[in-house]
Amino acid sequence: MNLKIGVIKGDGIGPEIVTEAMKVLDKVGEVYGHTCEYEQLLMGGASIDVHGIPLTDETVETAKACDAVLMGSIGGDAKTSPWYKLEPSKRPEAGLLKIRKALNLFANLRPAVLYDELKGACPLKEEITEGGFDMMIMRELTGGLYFGERKTVEEDGVLKAYDSLTYNENEIRRIAKRGFDIAMKRRKKVTSVDKANVLDSSRLWRKVVEEVAEDYPEVTLEHMLVDNCAMQLVRDPKQFDVILTENMFGDILSDEASMVTGSIGMLASASLNETKFGLYEPSGGSAPDIAGKGIANPIATILSAAMMLRFSFDLDKEADAIEQAVSQVLKDGYRTIDIMSEGKKQIGTVEMGDLIAGYIK
Ligand code: NAD
Repeated sequence: MNLKIGVIKGDGIGPEIVTEAMKVLDKVGEVYGHTCEYEQLLMGGASIDVHGIPLTDETVETAKACDAVLMGSIGGDAKTSPWYKLEPSKRPEAGLLKIRKALNLFANLRPAVLYDELKGACPLKEEITEGGFDMMIMRELTGGLYFGERKTVEEDGVLKAYDSLTYNENEIRRIAKRGFDIAMKRRKKVTSVDKANVLDSSRLWRKVVEEVAEDYPEVTLEHMLVDNCAMQLVRDPKQFDVILTENMFGDILSDEASMVTGSIGMLASASLNETKFGLYEPSGGSAPDIAGKGIANPIATILSAAMMLRFSFDLDKEADAIEQAVSQVLKDGYRTIDIMSEGKKQIGTVEMGDLIAGYIK
């Protein structure tokens, strides 16, 4: 198979971590008989330096012509970087918002996996985390409270602010379908999270999710109120497979779930649209504090590349091979500085990429 992949290396540690992910993808190609054709795309500060803006329309068109996009991270140090002297619409982050909108990326996926080998970094008690956990938070990304109408008015000398939370059934249906499709590739359980005891938008959410579930008889569906879910994530995270939820609840719950896994350098993510197209990136930022030092953890980006193989190319075996290689390297005691603990072997970015690529079978 020929994989046409747009690559946004970005700023800070972006080029270092993406280079390692490409190394691993090339090794997968070699072992499983695929070719990776990369299209380099400029975004963020790297694009400002060349074009004066964080993302050109031509770059968007080139990205659209790819099967998927793999991204590092963009942005610099807001206090020292000249990019932040520009007006907000020309700063690096504006490129990110523009590409998400242009590509209609409505479904955000963030896996929260606790590897047994890294459980020391987890703030939960050992009896809760024994054996690790592995869940996928699926968050609606383009609707709800963050995109609803808002205003602040003064009534009788008192300031009053409004934010509206709106979803239509089509927006709910398309994310729910995605959630069930992804559950079919996993342990076949969906926990739909809402606040249906209070909110109309949640009652509609629940109704539509139930309708979609009828097309997926193999998947077990449960509903959970968001306040309970926040508790269950720290009380018994092992119970979750796919958590399906709206924009704001997902924003909060995905951060909570990632916190209990340990390092930011381990957290992959994907944003998908209605086709197979997706944008895959680590959850962390461009880490200007460690850029160029060769110490950044490339695992989140490598795991994002595995998600790309699974969700944009349906190459599950190849994605499994990457995930197993990451597990093996951790089992063998290799660590970048951010996940280092006593008795383990500290290595740099390039060595971590080499080792993971070397384990691809
Ligand atoms: P950050 O995630 O870049 O860094 C937070 C801390 O985590 C730092 O100490 C950093 O060294 C560490 N860290 C992050 N990724 C790491 C990795 N792979 N390996 C080891 N350590 C890692 O967050 P920040 O400092 O708040 O933001 C820095 C820049 O990144 C800002 O310009 C911000 O706007 C941008 N940012 C970009 C994205 C994106 O591209 N999607 C996301 C978040 C932040």
